[in-house]
Amino acid sequence: MSYEANVRKVVPYVPGEQPKVTNLIKLNTNENPYPPSPLVLKALKDMEEKIERLKLYPDPTCEKLIDAIAKAYKVDKEKIFVGVGSDDVLAMAFLAFFNSDKQVLFPDITYSFYDVWADLYRIPYKQIPLKSDFTIEPSDYFIDNGGVVIANPNAPTGEALALDKVEEIIKNNPDVVVIVDEAYVDFGGVSVLPLIERYENLLVVQTFSKSRSMAGMRIGYAFGNPKLIKYLSDVKFSFNSYTMNATSLELGAAAVSDKEYFDKTRNMVIKTREWTKGELKRLGFTFADSKTNFIFAKSDKLPGKVIFDELRARNIIVRRWDKERINDYLRISIGTDEEMQELIKALEEILK
Ligand SMILES: *Cc1c(COP(=O)(O)O)cnc(C)c1O
Repeated sequence: MSYEANVRKVVPYVPGEQPKVTNLIKLNTNENPYPPSPLVLKALKDMEEKIERLKLYPDPTCEKLIDAIAKAYKVDKEKIFVGVGSDDVLAMAFLAFFNSDKQVLFPDITYSFYDVWADLYRIPYKQIPLKSDFTIEPSDYFIDNGGVVIANPNAPTGEALALDKVEEIIKNNPDVVVIVDEAYVDFGGVSVLPLIERYENLLVVQTFSKSRSMAGMRIGYAFGNPKLIKYLSDVKFSFNSYTMNATSLELGAAAVSDKEYFDKTRNMVIKTREWTKGELKRLGFTFADSKTNFIFAKSDKLPGKVIFDELRARNIIVRRWDKERINDYLRISIGTDEEMQELIKALEEILK
């Protein structure tokens, strides 16, 4: 006798390494190289006076954070959902919206958490191959299905799909929910957010982890029509009423209210990215024209694994997948100017 047969066995997602040593140039998990807004530090200091607040449960409706997001994006509160990073929002959305015997569709090369959630919840799915240039063909998603998920811009490719093409996918799937994961949209993509007014099957998911320098706080959010948001909220309250802690609610509200700092830092990241593209090109790398805070690049001179190991030996970590079609690619997050200069110097040495 054994309990084994009753266990839900899953193959977990493997997050990028968070090394314990600090002397590394860390370009492996697409974090922002700049600190959060000064308003976040102020909100954190204000928490000290409100320390008694922590003995109480946090606000289960997350009103303060939702109000701040509503104000920043000029969207009604009823159209917003928040969670513990967009991973939490996406996991709830898979649970809430993908309840069909038909397959949920997403690209073969995309955020590698999608198939993990699908497996966890026993959702059937089909991975649609990206075209050879790593772009999405919208008509591939016009087949009968149980839902659609796309990351736009896509990860790890950095490729952005034009708004009208995303709209075609949404428009041709009126009977299922289409999730558009916009984790990187603030670095040069175009958001489908306005389309939630026209398509009731659209859920747009974003995060504070990249463009708002708050990966450590775990804050994600979604936009959709009030009915869709209500369904999502019902699932959340059936799972855990208090996903968002009191500190995240305060600090998140402060972060999203600082538009000036947000614009300044994302423009710095974009500027550094464009410089890095020029340098990588000079060194013979090929890559898609990234609209994100990373570049997915490959050199014809050396296998990806060799470059990865050589960079690591020089205390620079990037991300690489041992996966068909992409095993020669390196996903390089955009750091500060100094960090990227170090990276280019190291690559010059390695490829010499
Ligand atoms: C980083 C990332 C997420 C998750 O971000 P959170 O830190 O959980 O908000 C979701 N989707 C994509 C495509 C990502 O790259």
